[in-house]
Amino acid sequence: MDLQTAPLAPPAFAQRQSFHALGPGFHTELNPSPVPEPHWLARSDDVADLLGFDAAWMAGDEALQVFAGNALLPGSRPLASVYSGHQFGVWAGQLGDGRAILLGETDNGLEVQLKGAGRTPYSRMGDGRAVLRSSIREFLCSEAMHALGIPSTRALALVGSPLPVRREQIETAAVVTRVAPSFIRFGHFEHFAARDMQSELKALADQVIDQHYPECRSASSLQANAYANFLQAVSERTARLLAQWQAQGFCHGVMNTDNMSILGLTIDYGPFQFLDSFDPGHVCNHSDSQGRYAFNRQPQVAYWNLFCLGQALLPLIGDEELTLAALESYKQVFPQAYAAQMLAKLGLPEDAPGTSVDEGRFAHLVNPLLQLLSDNRVDYSIFFTRLTQAVQDLARNQAQNPQVPQQADFEPLRDIILDRAGFDAWALLYSEQLALFTPASAASLMQKSNPRFLLRNHLAETVIRATQEGDFGPLTQLQAVLQTPFDAHPEHADWADFPPDWASSLEISCSS
Ligand code: AMP
Ligand code: MG
Repeated sequence: MDLQTAPLAPPAFAQRQSFHALGPGFHTELNPSPVPEPHWLARSDDVADLLGFDAAWMAGDEALQVFAGNALLPGSRPLASVYSGHQFGVWAGQLGDGRAILLGETDNGLEVQLKGAGRTPYSRMGDGRAVLRSSIREFLCSEAMHALGIPSTRALALVGSPLPVRREQIETAAVVTRVAPSFIRFGHFEHFAARDMQSELKALADQVIDQHYPECRSASSLQANAYANFLQAVSERTARLLAQWQAQGFCHGVMNTDNMSILGLTIDYGPFQFLDSFDPGHVCNHSDSQGRYAFNRQPQVAYWNLFCLGQALLPLIGDEELTLAALESYKQVFPQAYAAQMLAKLGLPEDAPGTSVDEGRFAHLVNPLLQLLSDNRVDYSIFFTRLTQAVQDLARNQAQNPQVPQQADFEPLRDIILDRAGFDAWALLYSEQLALFTPASAASLMQKSNPRFLLRNHLAETVIRATQEGDFGPLTQLQAVLQTPFDAHPEHADWADFPPDWASSLEISCSS
């Protein structure tokens, strides 16, 4: 056969599908509902590669139909899963994949799921759809988080359709294809625990442990209780995730227990926001009138959510003390991980001699800095990129003139802080600490810890508006820049600049 005209073989899913293996009590099999006139908006080559999906096939019409929900891949037995959860601190009862449909699992254990693929038995009052604006935000942020080194569900594809969707006004639909080793949430465990369905609860926990936390079976800690060790491992992963969110100024916005990944991934991008000016109490979700999910409450909320998970696992662990001991790890891991992240942003390694994550340095340097940034409402990420620049310049000057002691030039930082005296006092303390290390090592740590480009609300908004008007260029360009967020990208320097005035009046709510 002529190779040029040989049809491209579509990828196929694995024989064994974890969710099917759990049994019918966990899900409902159903196909996605088709959308009219689907068109490509974006794809991630990186994720296609992970899945082993051929790049040429991905670019074709068959793939477009599959990721619009209009066609199925060989071996695909789509399903929506059932879960429950606590929403805004209140038990919400049964929820489930109301608009997400799992297409299948690849041989290398990655699940492929459509979001916005139509109604399911768990849609309640919803239409099973997702609008273009929220789908662009989820697609871009999933991949941006990964590039920042923050665990996240991934995004393979973004497909648009003229299908009208009613929200506050009529909008159009889109479908995001998400990818993760598992989409299981805390809420899946809460579901079976709340209904006293012990054998289902055990089957779920056993499968998640065997596939994702096998080390918990042989751990000798916590009286060698596999379920307690599992809870501890989830607590630790969640603690590390939260440390990264807090360090990079990421506000999730809807930290309900059904939006908490059992793998410690960032999941369910809704009204999320990267902080502009540093306001610790910032609430990014316009629907969160009580401020339950304010930026500075996130670490505490994560613990509260883990507590719900602990409650759900209690029948398996069989011992209250052991459950509490497993949860306790969160309180140790979070502050340590957060301190390490924050010190890295300042170029100060956590493991340098005499500086093991030391409370002293954190308390003397990081806390006063955050107070200063908060009092002066300083742009959070620009502060750190300017600080990085100052230390990089210092490292270069030092290398050029090793004999002459050099001082960092902090003027560009002073410029953005109203309280100059306060900044000068902090800068003095910081310079003393910095002098303990070589400027080059500090600069290189800072370069990896302080992204220049984040998916700020105004950037997402700019791209959404362009895409809605049929100009897909900005979406493609922003996706590319966010793939290497620590690089300079001089042609897009304006995307690393201060947000425009209109950014502060953007209101992002749960309605997506
Ligand atoms: P969220 O907090 O946005 O992750 O959603 C909470 C629950 O509502 C989940 O069970 C979702 O599947 C469901 N949901 C959200 N939006 C829709 C929609 N448009 N149609 C159906 N279900 C939805
Ligand atoms: Mg959700």
